[in-house]
Amino acid sequence: MIIDGKAIAKMKREEIAKEVAKLNAKRITPGLAVILVGDDPASQIYVRNKHRACKETGIYSREITLAKDTSEEDLLALIDKLNADSAIDGILVQLPLPKQIDPDKVIERISPHKDVDGFHPVNAGALLTGQEGFVSCTPLGIMELIKSTGQEISGKDAVVIGRSNIVGKPVAHLLLRENATVTICHSRTRDLKSICQRADILVAAIGKAEMITGDYIKEGAIVIDVGINRLESGKVVGDVAFEEASKKATYITPVPGGVGPMTITMLLYNTLLSARKRAKD
Ligand code: NDP
Repeated sequence: MIIDGKAIAKMKREEIAKEVAKLNAKRITPGLAVILVGDDPASQIYVRNKHRACKETGIYSREITLAKDTSEEDLLALIDKLNADSAIDGILVQLPLPKQIDPDKVIERISPHKDVDGFHPVNAGALLTGQEGFVSCTPLGIMELIKSTGQEISGKDAVVIGRSNIVGKPVAHLLLRENATVTICHSRTRDLKSICQRADILVAAIGKAEMITGDYIKEGAIVIDVGINRLESGKVVGDVAFEEASKKATYITPVPGGVGPMTITMLLYNTLLSARKRAKD
């Protein structure tokens, strides 16, 4: 069965819109600030999509575009302002940043209470230690997709390919939190194929077009394809060879239309959570 990320994201956004309306009744509007430095066309599209998604769910969004030669100091000063701005519940700085700006410094400057991307070391640490905090959006979306299958996660063998801070590591921790037995693989892993063949749940977050062929997949597995790879022809494919893999997997996400639509949805969700906390203050 194909896991329809688009449909699941739509349902989730409808739920979020209802929750936003409840907050509105308390005179609170969740607010998200998105900062874009420079004019990278892909980043511009991402920012526009975030803005549109906010609008659809009733979340206030403030788009701030800065020139590509903006200094690190100026960007940090802007973040300080947004940290103190009571209309803003979430702050997101679109990555990648121009060379003169250190992304780690920027992420660390965002208040952990407004870090709806879940990239701040305080939030990454909270995930590691099982405390409350923001979890990054793509991993959260992946968990929603796995849960949508209705299959038990506890006790299952889960294999995550990729160990980035934004996808691989947090997904692995979320699966561990759900009591899966988790193996994390990366570019130095030996015999990746045989490890994958054991996976009841396989998450591929590599960035290599259709690297995971059908022979990597265990019969009956849940396969989540995070990769977004543009071929020379312009076609976008995942890290998994979908046609072959779908013959063996019981559940599989397509690319596009799988993990992608969930990422922005979970950003809206995190912004809602942040605003809810403000409502209780
Ligand atoms: P990174 O490049 O940061 O990480 C890739 C990981 O894959 C690394 O850990 C790397 O290992 C591992 N890897 C590379 N080659 C191999 C190999 N041959 N065998 C095993 N492991 C390998 O990428 P991201 O985590 O940021 O993203 C991964 C993919 O997901 C990309 O295609 C990206 O575009 C996509 N993505 C999609 C999102 C969505 O919303 N759908 C959101 C975020 C990302 P090592 O650490 O050893 O180098």
